[in-house]
Amino acid sequence: MAPSTSKIFRVAVIGGGPAGLMAAEVLSQAGVRVDLYDAMPSVGRKFLLAGKGGMNITHSEPIDDFVQRYGARAIQVGQWLAQFDPNAVRAWIHGLGIDTFVGTSGRVFPTDMKAAPLLRAWLHRLREAGVQFHMRHRWLGWRDGQLVFAHSDGEQLADADAVILALGGASWARLGSDGAWVALLEDKSVAIAPLAPSNCGFDVDWSAHFSSLHAGAPLTTVAIEWTGADGKQVRRQGQFVVTSTGVEGSLIYALSAPLRDQIAANGSATIWLDLAPDFSAERVETEVTHPRGARSMSSHLQSRLGIKGVKSGLLRECLSKEAFSDPEQLAAGIKRLPVVLKRARPIDEAISSAGGIRFDALDPESLMLRALPGVFAAGEMIDWEAPTGGYLLTACFASGRAAGRGALAWLKNIKA
Ligand SMILES: Cc1cc2nc3c(=O)[nH]c(=O)nc-3n(C[C@H](O)[C@H](O)[C@H](O)COP(=O)(O)OP(=O)(O)OC[C@H]3O[C@@H](n4cnc5c(N)ncnc54)[C@H](O)[C@@H]3O)c2cc1C
Repeated sequence: MAPSTSKIFRVAVIGGGPAGLMAAEVLSQAGVRVDLYDAMPSVGRKFLLAGKGGMNITHSEPIDDFVQRYGARAIQVGQWLAQFDPNAVRAWIHGLGIDTFVGTSGRVFPTDMKAAPLLRAWLHRLREAGVQFHMRHRWLGWRDGQLVFAHSDGEQLADADAVILALGGASWARLGSDGAWVALLEDKSVAIAPLAPSNCGFDVDWSAHFSSLHAGAPLTTVAIEWTGADGKQVRRQGQFVVTSTGVEGSLIYALSAPLRDQIAANGSATIWLDLAPDFSAERVETEVTHPRGARSMSSHLQSRLGIKGVKSGLLRECLSKEAFSDPEQLAAGIKRLPVVLKRARPIDEAISSAGGIRFDALDPESLMLRALPGVFAAGEMIDWEAPTGGYLLTACFASGRAAGRGALAWLKNIKA
């Protein structure tokens, strides 16, 4: 893309989520004219949704642990974080006049837990810095070196000296990020790893009876054991919810990446539930085998171990009739109940997306696409994933900064 004749460079940022807004901030602060385009009537819709249940914006754990949350992409994402780490994220939020606090789990939240005041303050600052917002502009690709947008007034064309793409993944498409960019970039020989659900729920194929009785029921004291592809056993305690088709919630999301991959490789993945994580196996066996007189097994389990409702339902659903009525097998089932996960839920329902622009299609420092000089990428549309806990937003912010700085360096070079 050729530089414009004007002394002031123009950069088009396409996508107004946290990654695109951050790139726009870096560029506008450096005196570049920024035009920010988004397909939706307003920017930051997923960011606002993330704030609904309490906006977890970053995490306070030591940076070495933090970086490891990006798994196979820890080195690449670590490079972005070296320039904009969780402390910098917090300082940046404070700079917008919003306080933060560290929750008991080490997660960091804005004091009022909300995204809207933060986004409002941020957009105000971006407008003051001269960023021009072009809403309802759906990017369709390039024609003769120009950017093409669909708009209700008809097709719009735009010139830019550099372009930042920050189009998100493909979850919650109704908020704007629908993954339609994949075909546009593949057409330009940009290598893309297939988009896949991350931080997602799974289908279990519950019986209609179990589903009708227990869909929506939370499991608040439960642990999951699971054997990874490397043969290592993982055990995590937490919470999840039984849905009409399977399971979802924080404990499931935390394991969702390797579970998704195991299902893709083997057709299913088995997790083992410990329905009484506060009791040892011996104690559970003692309680189950304790004489129960005329009481039913269900009321016996409730009075001796507090197992009732959805936990009791799970035992009936996942154990055979014979195992349920045999105290030893039942006690073993309470501590290690197999649940077979059949499919990841569709990407549109997921919290985030895995896959995206492959790292070898990008310059690692500037995030410029090797196949498209002058075009940079940021945020969830790059091939990394992370659990919930503020890791997603932090990497989106940090990559937005990296792409913004990358574009600045590139513009400086073409000027020289
Ligand atoms: C329910 C939910 C809760 C979440 N909670 C948290 C949390 O607490 N903490 C956390 O760290 N993360 C959370 N996340 C994840 C986080 O919101 C995302 O990772 C983040 O918003 C991704 O930022 P992004 O800028 O890459 O993309 P997005 O925020 O998806 O923004 C992409 C933008 O690009 C625009 N766009 C897409 N295609 C086009 C096109 N062709 N033309 C023009 N514009 C286009 C879209 O309209 C959108 O505005 C949550 C996500 C969900 C769904």
